Amino acid sequence: MFRVSKSVSFCYGHRLINYNGKCRYLHGHNARAVITLESNALDDRGMVEDFSDVKQLVWEWLDREIDHTMLLHKDDPILPVLQDAGERVTALAGNPTAETIACMIYEYVAGKGYPVIEVAVWETETSRASYSAER
Ligand SMILES: [Zn+2]
Repeated sequence: MFRVSKSVSFCYGHRLINYNGKCRYLHGHNARAVITLESNALDDRGMVEDFSDVKQLVWEWLDREIDHTMLLHKDDPILPVLQDAGERVTALAGNPTAETIACMIYEYVAGKGYPVIEVAVWETETSRASYSAER
């Protein structure tokens, strides 16, 4: 079994609702996503996937959907305020945690037909969440 992983750095803002920690306040993170792909065989280039192709695929989506975007729970009362102010904001079905972002990236990459097995999001240097499909 062959595996390759590609890291992509991005920034996002968020806050969590129904939560008592510091993440209940509006703030941002400089995060890093690590996308891991797996294959039984290599292509005719000797690769699982080209690192550059993975980076481009993920970055185009991250740049459009998450980078420098405020991610909020759809029920967050500040959502309409930021939307009315013209801020770049995305409403999610649940809290915008690192777990949720990892799942969003996973679903996007898998939906593009790549053999992704895990996406990890490092919210800080010491805090990592990941998502992988059930096998
Ligand atoms: Zn946070």
